[in-house]
Formats: sequence, C-alpha cells, structure tokens
Amino acid sequence: MSLNKEEITGRLVEILSDEQVITDPDVLRESSIDRFLRYEGFHGVFRKPFPAAVVYPHNAQEVSEVLKFANQNGINVVPRTGQSATEGGLETAVENSIVVDGSKMNKVVKIDPYNMQATAQCGVSLEVLDDQLRAQRYTTGHSPQSKPLAQMGGLVATRSIGQLSTLYGGIEDMVVGLEVLFPNGHISRIKNVPRRAAGPDIRHIAIGNEGAFCFITEVTVKIFKHFPENNVYLGYVLDHMKTGFEILREVMVNGYRPSVARLYDPEDAEYHFSHFSDGKCVLIFITEGDKPLVDATAQAIREITEKYGECVPVEPKLIQRWFENLNWDPSDLEEEKREIIETNNICNTTEISANWSLINDIYEVCMERIRNEIPDLTLLGGHSSHSYLNGTNLYFVYFYNVMNCGADEEISKYHMPIKKIIVEETIKAGGSMCHHHGVGKHRTNWIEDEYGSSYYMLKTLKDAFDPNGIMNKGTIFPIED
Ligand SMILES: Cc1cc2nc3c(=O)[nH]c(=O)nc-3n(C[C@H](O)[C@H](O)[C@H](O)COP(=O)(O)OP(=O)(O)OC[C@H]3O[C@@H](n4cnc5c(N)ncnc54)[C@H](O)[C@@H]3O)c2cc1C
Repeated sequence: MSLNKEEITGRLVEILSDEQVITDPDVLRESSIDRFLRYEGFHGVFRKPFPAAVVYPHNAQEVSEVLKFANQNGINVVPRTGQSATEGGLETAVENSIVVDGSKMNKVVKIDPYNMQATAQCGVSLEVLDDQLRAQRYTTGHSPQSKPLAQMGGLVATRSIGQLSTLYGGIEDMVVGLEVLFPNGHISRIKNVPRRAAGPDIRHIAIGNEGAFCFITEVTVKIFKHFPENNVYLGYVLDHMKTGFEILREVMVNGYRPSVARLYDPEDAEYHFSHFSDGKCVLIFITEGDKPLVDATAQAIREITEKYGECVPVEPKLIQRWFENLNWDPSDLEEEKREIIETNNICNTTEISANWSLINDIYEVCMERIRNEIPDLTLLGGHSSHSYLNGTNLYFVYFYNVMNCGADEEISKYHMPIKKIIVEETIKAGGSMCHHHGVGKHRTNWIEDEYGSSYYMLKTLKDAFDPNGIMNKGTIFPIED
C-alpha cells in the first residue's frame, strides 16, 4: 500500500532531520515546475501535483538512505541542483514525489593543477568553481549562459554545453570521474583516469541521465590554463545562413578551434545586434588560449572569411562588448518576471543538431513551416552556437504574445506546436532533436523516434538501474499509462 504524505515526510525526518525536510506549501508549489512553465509560474498557475517534501541531504550516505526508502515504497524522486532546467525535468509528474535537492552538498573538494582536474560536490555552482580556478589562472572551460545558476550535478545530468564549446567541448568531454547513486542505495565511484578501455565507458550512464537513472553527488572535471588577455574577437555581417554554415564548416574541417563560433539569422541578429546587423546575418568567432595558437587561429579565420565576398567584417570591440555581457544574470529574473506579467510576451527555445549536409535544409524547412503554421509570433529566429567536425547545432528562438489566450494556450497554441515542427523535421532529416537542454518531460513523445533501433539499449538501462521506475517519472521516458 502506498504511503500518504504525512507518512512520507515523517519517515524522511527520521532518515535526515527536521531542518532537512521542507514541507512549506510555498516551497512545494514552486518545486512542482521548472522554467518550461515559467509563464504559468509567474502568473501563479500551478497544475502539477505538488511534492510531499523537498529534502536537502548533506552527503552521499543520506542520499542513499532517501533513495532506498523511496525505492522500497514506490515514491517518485526528482533530483535537482541549480534549478535552471528548461524542459520540464524538474516537474513533479505524480502525487507525493520527493524532490532531492543536492545544493547543500556544495564543497569544492580538490583543485589539482598538476593533473589538470578539479573535484566538486554536485551542489557547487559552476560560477563558484570557475571563479576559484580563474583566480589561479585556470578554468573549467565550461560556460553555459546559466553559469551563475547551474550546479555541477545538474550540468552533468543534462549533458550541458557552454558558449566556449568549440574549443573545450561539452560537459561529456570534461568529466573525468563521478560519484553516482542508484535507487537501491548503491554508491558507485567512477575513478579519475585520463582514458580507459576496460569495456564500455560507464560515465555516460550518468552523463545526461536527467535524474532518470541515478543521482550524481560528486564530479571531477578537467581544467585548462586560462589566458583571457589573449582573446581575439572577430565579427562579420553576411547575407545568407547557407554561406555562414559553409564558413563555420570550413573553419572546423580545417582543424581550427575558436572558443566561440556563432551564426545568427537576420531576426535573431536584429534582437542581439540591432546596432550593426542591418537586417543581415551575423557571424562571430572568438579565439582564446596561448598566444601563438590564438593568433594562428584568428589569422586562419580571417583568410577563410575573406574568400566569401558577402562576408563583411565589423568592429571587434562590438563583439567583445557583446561577449562580456553574455551570461544570464540572476538579478534579471525579477525583471524578466515583471516583463512577462506586464506584456504577456514570452520567449521560448528549442535546440537541435545535424550534420553539415542537413543543417541549412532543416533551418529553412522549420522556419517556413513555423511561419506558415503558427500565427502571430512576435519574433522567430535562430542561431548556430556549437560547431563540430561533422556538423553544428541550431537554436531556434521564438517570442509570442499570450495576451488573448492565457496559460493553457501558451503551451498548446505556441510552444508545443513549434517544438513539434522543429523536432519532427529534424528527426525526419536525420538530426538529433536535443542538442543540449535535455529531453525533460516535453520531448518524450519523440524519444523512440530519436533513438530508432537503439532505443532498446536506452530502455534496457532504465529497466536495469531503476526497475521500480521511481527516478524522475516522465523524464526522458514517457509515463506509460
Ligand atoms: C537563462 C538560461 C540559460 C541557459 N543556458 C544554457 C546553456 O548555455 N547551455 C546548456 O547546456 N544549458 C543551458 N541552460 C539550461 C540549464 O541551465 C542546464 O540544463 C543546466 O545544466 C541545468 O543545471 P542545474 O544545476 O540548474 O540543474 P537542475 O535544473 O536542478 O536539473 C536539471 C535536470 O537534471 C536533473 N538533475 C539535477 N541535479 C541532479 C543530480 N545531482 N543528479 C541527477 N540528476 C540531477 C534534474 O532532475 C533535471 O532533470 C540554460 C537555462 C537558463 C534558465
């Protein structure tokens, strides 16, 4: 028989302590959603079942005890750290869930410059870790726009990627080792070594699991030398996205690794760079690192762009200024909330990836279908912000005004139909429906299409590690009934 709310919280207090188990109704309400439903949240509309409690364990052993209790009693667990998720990963999909918040496990365990790695507990904010490293002329190289908010556990759990990824890679390229806990309470430590070939690389069971397989309590990442004073900023305006993709490709396939390589379409460029974009696309490169590398990379990019007549350079200071204000500032949240409440104009995004041969077609088909099928958008644009040897990503950005339709239609009239077009066209063409925000609870409809015949492997992992299905129900895997 399932336990009621009082029985769950009573037992949690016995396992942890009074102060670590929060049942304040306001906290429970706010903990039932993430930023996917921020329009609703900002308007005080909460329709997801509220959790029974939010708990704050102090160490892996306490997480283990909470998971064991939940597993034995079939209670849904939603892991969280920085709470910057955007795809519904933090939504409590069923009644009486336990939100396990790792943010009190917030010690930087070790900075090891000789072996070029740093170990942090899951609740260490990336900004805190990176600031400590930068004070010693090192960096994680990880720089998602949510850097001030996001914490190490969530960053690994979502397979996050930062704005400097073309040089440093995504989090999957940075994680050296981890400590992870499974629903049966088992604590696994994956050791820190430069490479391993002893069977499959099991780090990837945790990286990107979105709290659906395991809870991450500690992470070791690579660190890099940091030379910000050497940065070179390059910017261009050009007429066509197709040309921009060609230039990005040429830079990547010739082996150059700028830290930033971005291409904005005219609408998105107008939003960010109206002072110089003049209705055109904007292409940006930043090169960073040791000076000879930076100079050689910048020179090669100049030579490549010069071959494309439509590509016109802009003042580097414009790019530097933009870059220095790129990260989201938590103090913007109140302003964002006020603006949404006052204007009912809201921005959402969907990010995908595809090979070079597919990306421009996906961009064009999605833009055309969205323009034709979704009325009244106040802005529709897109940019590529992460490039690879074999392809790149696209980050679609759309604003809509929900003045006439309210919270329900925010999702049903705008956000989900737009997402559906982007996801379906991307999968049909052969790309991936998720570049970095995770599947969350709002792309699960397409998870089997995304994986095709390899879905067997993913589902088998879920069944093996979480046989009772208590880990973040509805995330990555749709709720079956
Ligand atoms: C303004 C803004 C900008 C953003 N920019 C970027 C960007 O540039 N790049 C990018 O990749 N993402 C970006 N994101 C998305 C988000 O910041 C990332 O997904 C981030 O990695 C989430 O980390 P978090 O600590 O906030 O995790 P949370 O939001 O707390 O959780 C995210 C997911 O991970 C799971 N999870 C959290 N902690 C754990 C844990 N310890 N163990 C197991 N599972 C866990 C949760 O259940 C949830 O499914 C942005 C979000 C915002 C709001």
